[in-house]
Amino acid sequence: ISMKPRIGIMSRYLAKDNRFVTKAGYIYAISAVGGLPIQIPIADVADVDAIAGMVDGIIITGGADVTPLVYGEQPVPAIGPTCGANDRFEIALIHAALAKKKPVLGICRGIQVINVAFGGTLYQDIPSQISRDICHNQGAAGTERTHSAAIEPGSYMHGIAKCDTMLVNSFHHQALNTIGDGLKVSARAMDGVVEAVENADGSVFAVQWHPELLYAENPEHRAIFEAFVKRCAAK
Ligand code: MN
Repeated sequence: ISMKPRIGIMSRYLAKDNRFVTKAGYIYAISAVGGLPIQIPIADVADVDAIAGMVDGIIITGGADVTPLVYGEQPVPAIGPTCGANDRFEIALIHAALAKKKPVLGICRGIQVINVAFGGTLYQDIPSQISRDICHNQGAAGTERTHSAAIEPGSYMHGIAKCDTMLVNSFHHQALNTIGDGLKVSARAMDGVVEAVENADGSVFAVQWHPELLYAENPEHRAIFEAFVKRCAAK
């Protein structure tokens, strides 16, 4: 029996293929730092407690836009495709994980869903609602780091990255607006867009970029997965 920490990794339902898929980078990254990756499908919301109980930690992965209905707003014209069932399942799973004191790592869409689960709101479209000063939806390859993020001194993120500024990739057009109760911002892009949040003890920790595409060549991004799996092992 493996004693590795069991890391539940959210998959996405692809309607056109009728499949649940998890991008390989998440699986590889967790394997690379000593975790046991387990794919979690979007399932019955009634089963989130059972699912949270089967793993030592959960990664809320990248994916589609979050429906603004879950934080009480109407969709703006520039919003992309959404799936409310995905959003409501993941929000419930985050609450279940918190209740069981299982660490949660959010990546890209994951930081947005976590913020909503904590009662926060989102910008639905950066270019039309915040700024056009920095490109947050790069055309470059996923392994290319395209903008910088300032790390909040003294934050859990700072302890992981061990630097004041880091370069990140960027594949999002939504961003955090009001920050949920119990979360604080731990990194921002130079245009003010939130790039990382964490809770008081770092058991919930999320980034807006994609470290699963960067960890192989960049120790400060690998450190995100190392810190998370280490936390999950300690539970
Ligand atoms: Mn960005």
